[in-house]
Amino acid sequence: MNTVWACLCAGDILLRKGAEDGAFSLPTGDEPPVPLKPWNVVTKLEIKDDRLKMKDSQAQPSLISNLSSLILSVVRLDRPVVDVEGLEMMGLRASFQVLSQEEYTLAGKAAELIYWDQNTKYCGCCGAPTKWMTDISKKCSECGKEWWPSVGTAIIVRVTRPIVSTGSAVINPASGRRVVGDPASGGRVVGDSVADTEILLVRAKNFRRPHHGLVAGFLETGESLVDAVRREVREETGIEIKNIRYFDSQPWPYPFGLMVGFTADYAGGELRLQKEELSEGGWFTRDNMPQIPDKASIARRLIDDWLESPRPTKDIYLAGGCFWGTEHYFKQIEGVVLTEVGFANGHTENPTYKEVYTDTTGFAETVLVRFYPDVVSLEFLLRMFFKAIDPTSLNKQGHDEGTRYRTGVYYTDPADLPVIEKVFAEEQKSYEQPLAVEKLPLQNFYTAEEYHQDYLDKNPDGYCHLPLSLFEFARKANIR
Ligand SMILES: [Zn+2]
Repeated sequence: MNTVWACLCAGDILLRKGAEDGAFSLPTGDEPPVPLKPWNVVTKLEIKDDRLKMKDSQAQPSLISNLSSLILSVVRLDRPVVDVEGLEMMGLRASFQVLSQEEYTLAGKAAELIYWDQNTKYCGCCGAPTKWMTDISKKCSECGKEWWPSVGTAIIVRVTRPIVSTGSAVINPASGRRVVGDPASGGRVVGDSVADTEILLVRAKNFRRPHHGLVAGFLETGESLVDAVRREVREETGIEIKNIRYFDSQPWPYPFGLMVGFTADYAGGELRLQKEELSEGGWFTRDNMPQIPDKASIARRLIDDWLESPRPTKDIYLAGGCFWGTEHYFKQIEGVVLTEVGFANGHTENPTYKEVYTDTTGFAETVLVRFYPDVVSLEFLLRMFFKAIDPTSLNKQGHDEGTRYRTGVYYTDPADLPVIEKVFAEEQKSYEQPLAVEKLPLQNFYTAEEYHQDYLDKNPDGYCHLPLSLFEFARKANIR
């Protein structure tokens, strides 16, 4: 049987250093890597194949990758090993950088077991000495109570939100689109680019190095993981979140923990940092990242995952009568990242609102709805769209009349057509008359003047052809 040694002393672990390549590994062999004292207790754990292979298959192969089982021999040394050729002691956390993932996991497990052993010498019920029962549990010698290790669970969460444009927006004369940023340098054309997100990073007072991390905290008794995530974000930053989703978890043997990682979307609130725990914090874009945690942590993996993969979004263009109300309606729906009002499928260039108002340009008042397809489906959005229009009314919605108020679904991705066809077919069943809603590829789209954007946010008492109850309905609509 293959034996791997985890020899620990005050938080450091003994590693073998290859004579030729200088690579680190856990010592192996039937005999301990250093002579032990008679009183040093060796705990032997049999680690089976499924435990060894549970790790990411892309990880670097190591000495133990190909073993079907092994014995992990755990021992606490009285004093650190120094000046022994080919052996070196290293902090457990630092060993992450030099060990294979499998070996690091074994080292962490060994460290936890030693910590637990030291803290469970006596029964918590009656105070009598405990005895090992299995290789990972003890039993009281008097009252018989069994003791098993329990981990402290902590949550960590990556919160992101769509980048909100600030500053003045201008119309780019070349494209007719609203441009955010410096138009001289090209700016960022909202209607053309994929909406990016920014990340919430905080700096805890107890961080030793000058880096920012993610909101994290311990699970309290009687609390669910999701509740803990929501509470920690609220307590530390004052903001509300939604779409909380599991990411991954990581044993965190410092000394005895499990970090459970989540992702979430910003839902509202102003950033208010908890002064007792945090020294700094804020929203960061990809281009202005501060120092981030080292590779050993799940925090870093959560951040890297965001840095490496901008979250995909999709666009659909919906004409539903006056665009003020239609935009406001779709903004309420969970999973919608960005909305913009504009003019679609007409036959002039760079139309102004005044020109479109003459009803001679062929344009329809249209809303660009950009959404996260992993949160809300196109099918759901289209069903919501039909609830906000009279689909059999030609060129008239509410009191608004004219071809500019016609209804339509304009798509940019032909792959969306089957979904659109399906929803149209099902909606048609509810009506005797044929649907008057257009279903066409998007020919062109020009963003409307700035004062039309977010009109009902700027003018809460402004005109709207939709009933107020519909906005409440959109907010509460169940997307799953
Ligand atoms: Zn007892």
